[in-house]
Amino acid sequence: MIMIDGAEGEGGGQVVRNACALSLVTGQPFRIANIRGRREKPGLMRQHVTAIEAACAIGGAACEGLTVGSSELVFRPGRVTAGTYSFAVGTAGSTGLVLQTVLMPLILADGPSRLVLEGGTHNMLAPPFEFITKSFLPVLNRMGPSVTARLVRHGFYPRGGGRIEVDIVPAPLTPIDCIDRGSSLRQSATALFASLPVAVAEREINTARTLLGWPETAFAVRELPAEQGPGNILLLEAAYEHVTEVVSGFGKLGVPAERVAKMAAGRMAGYLESAAFAGPYLADQLLLPFALAGAGSFTTVKPSQHSLTAATIIELFLGRRCAFRQLPNGVHLLEVGGTGAAS
Ligand code: ATP
Repeated sequence: MIMIDGAEGEGGGQVVRNACALSLVTGQPFRIANIRGRREKPGLMRQHVTAIEAACAIGGAACEGLTVGSSELVFRPGRVTAGTYSFAVGTAGSTGLVLQTVLMPLILADGPSRLVLEGGTHNMLAPPFEFITKSFLPVLNRMGPSVTARLVRHGFYPRGGGRIEVDIVPAPLTPIDCIDRGSSLRQSATALFASLPVAVAEREINTARTLLGWPETAFAVRELPAEQGPGNILLLEAAYEHVTEVVSGFGKLGVPAERVAKMAAGRMAGYLESAAFAGPYLADQLLLPFALAGAGSFTTVKPSQHSLTAATIIELFLGRRCAFRQLPNGVHLLEVGGTGAAS
């Protein structure tokens, strides 16, 4: 039984989700204590429970301690079965984070699957739908599988009610090397809003326009049906030959639209200034598939705590090092099975 201290490293929900995914793929049970030990309100929240329930459903797993508030969990995996599954996060919890839990086991399963996920689709501190489809899945699909996702309905915090559908055609993961992003193709900045004054979106776009200096055609506001709101997100996209970076600014009550846009533009500027392939959030998502492929490499701006913690969990389950080292041009290179120490 693999033992995990959930307060180690990044110490949040991703530790549990990565552990479930790797447990289902490898067939190794695990026990985790101090779940989300570094969070203000430790223990499993509703969205984590849903993600683990999803892992149990696709993988015939048995759990002890699977309740909201629980700080200890034992997870015993069974056999992963491809098929059609529906999971609803009872709150506005992120559909992207449920996907993060079950995607790797299903792309390594013995047949195609379809997932219907209901909850939040554009949540703060989680991968928004456009990040999944434009940034993450194209890289994953280059490794062998075919995963496509469709947004049926937006879901914003706190109302939720969003829906995404994901089709998965499995394949073994083949190693790839993602060092350069290639030449720049296009940029876009879109402010989505629902059931809010249009001025919120316009102020975000005006700020982004001033800060980014992208062509005028790159900027747009898009109103969603009122019943999908209230909600607002600013999506900044920079498409290159080999990768697309998607940075989000999440509108929040009490936070001026200008500040939302300024933070997002600042993060995009950090990516644009570097020569790295992956931004920090994409790197977080790529660790698992790259490690499961058994080799390969990618460059990133700077490894996040989430990435470093994922590397620790990977080593526990796969006995494989995922090591980051900084290159002379400032980017960080992740190599699977490398011998360098994690930075
Ligand atoms: P908690 O942090 O409260 O435990 P959690 O389980 O929701 O809750 P994390 O463990 O922090 O959250 O994991 C969040 C995941 O969402 C990480 O994989 C991170 O890379 C990803 N993520 C967060 N914000 C974004 C974003 N703006 N774009 C893409 N991915 C994101």
